[in-house]
Amino acid sequence: MTKHIFVTGGVVSSLGKGLTASSLGRLLKMRGLRVTMQKLDPYINVDPGTMNPYEHGEVFVTDDGGETDLDLGHYERFIDENLSQSSNATTGSIYQSVLAAERRGDYLGKTVQVIPHITDEIKRRIKRISTDDVDVVITEVGGTVGDIEILPFLESIRQFRKDAGRDNVCYIHVTLVPFIGPAGEQKTKPTQHSVTELRSRGIQPDVIVCRSEAPLSVELKRKISNLCDVDDRAVVNAADVGNIYELPLILHDEGLDEVVLDVLGMETPDIQTSAWDALVSKVEAATEPVRIGLIGKYVQLPDAYLSVVESLKHAGFHHGARVEIDWIQAEDVVGLLAEDRLAELDGLVIPGGFGARGFEGKIEAARYARESGLPCLGLCLGLHAMTVEFARNVVGLTEANSTEFDPTTRHPVIDLMHDQREVTDKGGTMRLGAYYAVLSPDTKVAEAYGEPVVSERHRHRFEFNPNYKSRLEEHGFVCSGISPDRRLVEFIELADHPFWVATQAHPEFKSRPDRPHPLFRDLIAAALVNARSHNANARV
Ligand code: GLN
Repeated sequence: MTKHIFVTGGVVSSLGKGLTASSLGRLLKMRGLRVTMQKLDPYINVDPGTMNPYEHGEVFVTDDGGETDLDLGHYERFIDENLSQSSNATTGSIYQSVLAAERRGDYLGKTVQVIPHITDEIKRRIKRISTDDVDVVITEVGGTVGDIEILPFLESIRQFRKDAGRDNVCYIHVTLVPFIGPAGEQKTKPTQHSVTELRSRGIQPDVIVCRSEAPLSVELKRKISNLCDVDDRAVVNAADVGNIYELPLILHDEGLDEVVLDVLGMETPDIQTSAWDALVSKVEAATEPVRIGLIGKYVQLPDAYLSVVESLKHAGFHHGARVEIDWIQAEDVVGLLAEDRLAELDGLVIPGGFGARGFEGKIEAARYARESGLPCLGLCLGLHAMTVEFARNVVGLTEANSTEFDPTTRHPVIDLMHDQREVTDKGGTMRLGAYYAVLSPDTKVAEAYGEPVVSERHRHRFEFNPNYKSRLEEHGFVCSGISPDRRLVEFIELADHPFWVATQAHPEFKSRPDRPHPLFRDLIAAALVNARSHNANARV
């Protein structure tokens, strides 16, 4: 029988529920259990694919092409399992299924209602991922207890314990214990209110995880235990940490995994933390500064580039380097170049994006990197910018552009390669999910991956236009990876540059803290050469 853990949140949003759930997932894996995870999102969008990154942060893409919540990125990075689109369900997607069933006549003329039809569909989504090869499913409920739209989800997880059996379900509630300056005290009242709200929906938490700035005292934990009616040891403190990868070990020291296993009546072999201990030591030892410019459009919200940032950090851990990110608004690049500001950087990343704003700035950054020998990694739209740059400034096709931004350009070096002109539904109309690429021997990309065929995740409409391949190649542009049917260009690079590499894919979705992605790893290796001379000059 698969066991289920439900994680809810209270008091405020952005509490780090996803990280708490992921850390618990990792702890259970360290005890030899097979774990999978899922996020239920109460908003009405069918998936986050159509949402502005400022609304929602990054859209995380799974191998099977799901456009999902960024918490799935945390799940994959912590539990080191590839998830699928069934690991994310929104109110919109749940209603979509129920309404389709209603139109088909599946409900045989019955009135279709939130209870039981929506709640049954939510339960079906939860059960769908509890397959025979999973011991524990961790389901995080997005939003905050007390929200109107969360109610069907709370009702579903309440019913779930009744359906699955008391011992097969554990409820974890994550709350905030704020520090109120004038009183000089940590306050438990918001936690009490939040638990009361949860109870009013019929759910008594088994475990309360208290987020706080500073650690909670034993007395305060006891107070929460008494007032919220959970065991003393079931009040677990997750005080702020400098490095998120420490969190599993902190929660283990707080006894989280043990108390959860007790609730679920599970016995496991002893926990094996040595691999994760080694990772945390590596993170702590990663101190050599290396400065990477991230030329983006949504730079005010770092969550919009969450997986890119984590991938850079992972690569840093590998090299013993602390990656400092210089967030550069793409529209500001021209001004910054005039001030020679990019000369302070050791490397560049030009990440993915949509829409014209900032594209010219990305092209200028790509040019600067090419001309100055600055290591530069382009991701998806980054490949588009680097290709347009090369076509304009090296090949002399001054009007080269992507048809995404100039549909009538004379030189569409980036164009739609599959016919999407007629598509009006904006959801899921992109090339999405994992695709293979064949790498050309003796290229930087082939050397980085160390294997001839690789698979990466995609999320885009536009592609390199193969009609321009030979013209660009005559000038030293290398198409270092192509699709197995030879139609699509997946990787580009320059031979006579330390590292000017781009991919049509989003490799950032596959980096792990203890297994950095090869392209990020080699970007940081090249950037460190600059960092060392920068740092040495600074000392003179
Ligand atoms: N806007 C570009 C496209 O749709 C790139 C997308 C991206 O960077 N993910 O092709």
